[in-house]
Amino acid sequence: MPQPREGAGSDPGVSALSLPSRPAGMTAGLMDRYGRRATDMRLSLTDKCNLRCTYCMPAEGLEWLAKQAVMSAEEIVRIVRVGVDMLGVRELRLTGGEPLVRADLLDIIAALRQAHPELPISMTTNAVGLDKKAAGLKAAGLSRINVSLDSLHEETFTKLTRRPFLGKVLAGVDAAWAAGLGPVKLNAVLMRGINDAESPSLLAWALDRGYELRFIEQMPLDADHGWTRRNMITAAEIRELLSVDYVLSTDPRDRDGAPAERFEVRRRVPGSAEAAGPVLGTVGIIASVTEPFCSDCRRTRITAEGKIMSCLFSREEVDLLGLLREGATDQQLAERWQDAMWIKPKAHGMDHVGLDAPDFVQPDRSMSAIGG
Ligand code: SAM
Ligand code: SF4
Repeated sequence: MPQPREGAGSDPGVSALSLPSRPAGMTAGLMDRYGRRATDMRLSLTDKCNLRCTYCMPAEGLEWLAKQAVMSAEEIVRIVRVGVDMLGVRELRLTGGEPLVRADLLDIIAALRQAHPELPISMTTNAVGLDKKAAGLKAAGLSRINVSLDSLHEETFTKLTRRPFLGKVLAGVDAAWAAGLGPVKLNAVLMRGINDAESPSLLAWALDRGYELRFIEQMPLDADHGWTRRNMITAAEIRELLSVDYVLSTDPRDRDGAPAERFEVRRRVPGSAEAAGPVLGTVGIIASVTEPFCSDCRRTRITAEGKIMSCLFSREEVDLLGLLREGATDQQLAERWQDAMWIKPKAHGMDHVGLDAPDFVQPDRSMSAIGG
């Protein structure tokens, strides 16, 4: 039987204090003890959201962080500056919760852009209200957008998100494209018996419009703790579902640390294994559970209340905002961030004993409270 690997999930009782500390004098960027260097920063702007996706948030009852617990615009700008100017961060993704619900979003993006004229700044959003904000976001300096869209059917969308807002989301996607926030990437989580059968038509819709669709394996990060290994739709199943209509071949471009494995898509000759016609576009599959990419992970995460998480499944959260508010220097902030990344687990542990294993012990925080 395969042995458990060292990983976040396989190490439940571990505390940051029992982990090895960073060797003195080792100051180059956000390196961990397995030789990975984080250059891709995910920063959560809020834990609040206006949808209630079943794989992420509970229907009700999740308490929001107090306003003063959440990073202010100035604090965000300072933390990003430390990351970019001192620690080798090369890419920033704003996320949440739902970033669009933050009233000072445009100010935050404008300030980040002014401080870092060349930095790629993208945002993951559910696109509710984006139709009215896309042009302003582009003007403020946002580079690109990722929109979560799990279904094109009103009823299914409402069942998955617990809100009847499909029309608003589609208007938001169109507006992002029109505002020049492309390439627009779409994220879809497939849920068995709910939207899995829709995957080929979702892909057809995205290909027609020139959007890059990425299917994300459902991870055990839902507030309802409903995830089970047996019920999740795996990457292998996603490829199978799509292969009825399409032939997928590995995209020859270097994956370059990206979480999604990209495939070129051609139409399938009905009843044959052959592809017909030109490449229609690409599709990505983010197989975090069944085909994890931890060994090449380049991400560092900051939650809305300024905690460093070296991995989505970290049990150690290291407080950066508290230190900043105590009056720390940039150098002290940089060192704490380096310490936090040094103890990044080797792997997340969801996959550690195969698909027949008892279910992974889920972290306390839901995806919305970490920042996906
Ligand atoms: N509210 C924004 C949105 O939905 O795009 C940004 C935050 S959301 C937490 C970021 C991404 O995480 C979304 O693409 C969402 O589909 C994904 N996500 C949320 N919960 C997930 C889960 N349990 N497994 C896999 N992906 C998840
Ligand atoms: Fe909100 Fe995004 Fe979570 Fe859906 S996935 S509940 S839109 S944070």
